[in-house]
Amino acid sequence: MALPRVRVVTLNAALGPLDYRVPQGVVAQPGDILTVPLGPRQLIGVAWEPERLPTEEVGDNRLRPFLAKEDVSPIAEPLRRLAEWTADYYLSPLASVLRMILPGAAFASPRQLTEYRPTGSLPDRMTPQRRQAMEKIEGRQGSVRELARLADVSDGVIRGLVNHGALEAVAVEADAPFSLPDPDHAPPTLSAEQGAAADRLRSALGKGFDPILLDGVTGSGKTEVYFEAIAEALRQDRQVLVLLPEIALTEPFLSRFEKRFGCAPVSWHSDLRASERRRAWRAIADGSAKVVVGARSSLFLPYRDLGLIIVDEAHEASFKQEEGVQYHARDVAVMRGHFEKFPVILASATPAIETRHMVEIGRYDEVCLRERHAGAQLPDIEAVDLTHDPPARGNWLAPRLVRELEANLEAGEQSLLFLNRRGFAPLTLCRHCGHRFNCPNCTAWMVEHRLMHRLACHHCGHVMPPPRLCPECEEEDSLVACGPGVERIADEVQQLFPEARTAIVTSDTVWSPARAAEFVRAMEASEIDIVVGTQLVTKGYHFPNLTLVGVVDADLGLQGGDLRAAERTFQQISQVAGRAGRGERPGRVLVQTHDPDAPVIAALVSGDGPAFFEAETEARRSAAMPPFGRLAAIIVSAEDQTDAERTAAAIGHARPKIDGVAIYGPAPAPLAMLRGRHRQRLLVHAERKLDVQAVIREWLSGVDWPAKVRVAVDVDPYSF
Ligand code: ADP
Ligand code: ZN
Repeated sequence: MALPRVRVVTLNAALGPLDYRVPQGVVAQPGDILTVPLGPRQLIGVAWEPERLPTEEVGDNRLRPFLAKEDVSPIAEPLRRLAEWTADYYLSPLASVLRMILPGAAFASPRQLTEYRPTGSLPDRMTPQRRQAMEKIEGRQGSVRELARLADVSDGVIRGLVNHGALEAVAVEADAPFSLPDPDHAPPTLSAEQGAAADRLRSALGKGFDPILLDGVTGSGKTEVYFEAIAEALRQDRQVLVLLPEIALTEPFLSRFEKRFGCAPVSWHSDLRASERRRAWRAIADGSAKVVVGARSSLFLPYRDLGLIIVDEAHEASFKQEEGVQYHARDVAVMRGHFEKFPVILASATPAIETRHMVEIGRYDEVCLRERHAGAQLPDIEAVDLTHDPPARGNWLAPRLVRELEANLEAGEQSLLFLNRRGFAPLTLCRHCGHRFNCPNCTAWMVEHRLMHRLACHHCGHVMPPPRLCPECEEEDSLVACGPGVERIADEVQQLFPEARTAIVTSDTVWSPARAAEFVRAMEASEIDIVVGTQLVTKGYHFPNLTLVGVVDADLGLQGGDLRAAERTFQQISQVAGRAGRGERPGRVLVQTHDPDAPVIAALVSGDGPAFFEAETEARRSAAMPPFGRLAAIIVSAEDQTDAERTAAAIGHARPKIDGVAIYGPAPAPLAMLRGRHRQRLLVHAERKLDVQAVIREWLSGVDWPAKVRVAVDVDPYSF
């Protein structure tokens, strides 16, 4: 008689499925989480249906028993099917998907551990590193490693602070329960339009798969409305996941949630401490975490009884993961609803063309909110033609915008200047010899960050001190900053209005939920007159006294001929415009551009978004671009350029000839070098009805490449 055996997928992508013997007296079923031996090592894996993962059978006599079955709930069947779907669709190893279901630190970290927090006293001897550490750690707590990472110093610096009494140890019990949100804590009074929308969402709960686009103008109360769907899910005792695009955004969300439901939801994002991860993961898996708010990585967690997913700001690019499994969280959220049979709500004021298309063909339902709450008006958008109304020499703000800023200051109202560029200047150039400061690891310029006294690469994080002389011609005082970043705009504002209180809001200045909360507080207390910010300020914030928005460079995102350039510009400017006039006072928006006749600018000014989207959709349709056709990018990378080129050429050589599939390249990828790796790209463009994954799988299986070369496939690439 054959011995009872089990097939296991480990979390190691380099390994195929492995078979083990089931030890006597143990029962193992698909979904169980097991510790298995591999040579001298112990690995975590998940038992899987053997028939779904065919592999070479190993004889009974060579089978080793697995070591232990973990004392946590098994991975349920629908989640196993979702994992398989994700691996197939995104051409990724199943192991890589399982790593997102069982994030190591969360799953395995100890129950009790020691963390450290500031005592309030400072060390006698203050070194610059200690000062930096104490500033960054203020109000935080964590293990030595976590605090060191947070403060960007070595573990030794943190230990030194502990020894000097500036940090103290705290014992942490990782499994404390979370409070339960109360659906009836503080229900709102909804407008008629909101009430109808809430009824529709509520009625979807508990009745199976139901994807719904919640399409409402900025400030219409989308959050308020989907909170009612959350309340209903809570009454049915189901779990809810709210996906947000940016963790800096979670703080205002958390306080709103707390007001409505009486306690905070459970947060999940990459900045959690190990103890927080363990606590959240276990509560998610045992069902006691009722409402989870997270970044895209929270999508794959093993919820015990998920009954609703809400994707807020569903059009956001940050839902697309660009490394590892290159999935789109919006799309996988809908698939999860499909496999687990619950509704999925996509909320947005500017839904993606793909999402609108799903509504058009009847796959998603649509619920609309057309009015802003409490009679607030959508702001007027006006173009400022930089060719006819140019800024003063060396400046970036046109006279018209400067006058409006001044008027707003005098009226005691707040203004926001939007420029999607961190730092002071995107390029530093030698006036004498033309030398440009490039990143040594990437095809990118080093961006000057004057506040932090350094140049930084925004792709790989490489930094260097600000140069005093040109490394090429050794000329002194010949270096010039070219182009504006937010810091430079803030400087200009300071010079124009020395009395104005300005704040810069980027991921450099608002890097944590606590910082975001501080920014919100300062805005609400009117301690800030003018905000200069990147896309971070386009999202979710609600400041009633903010009445003027200036878009510094509307043309920035339109360069480069990207498929989504116009769509993204429309979304971004609509979102940032939506920050204005959310209170009683009307808002106005000035958009600086060299091309006021560009269709996207004209559409923003006329307010005719539908016509713009229709034109964009038609352009996609006639070019058979997504959602009317399929795209995938094959990225070949290696440290050595020749290695990358050779493999890319070999893949190109083996290209399949299939009707309805066009293959372009290989050619240098848009970022020809990234983090020290040379990148080549092939683009696959296929008809909608074709199984592009099958084509690529078959194609790549016929090509070999050396281990030092990496080949990754990006299905439905966001930008290209
Ligand atoms: P959106 O997500 O559509 O931009 P929000 O849900 O953020 O809109 O609502 C905008 C603002 O109006 C928020 O401050 C919100 O609290 C308020 N608001 C919306 N609807 C109501 C309501 N029915 N009662 C009270 N306040 C509301
Ligand atoms: Zn770089």
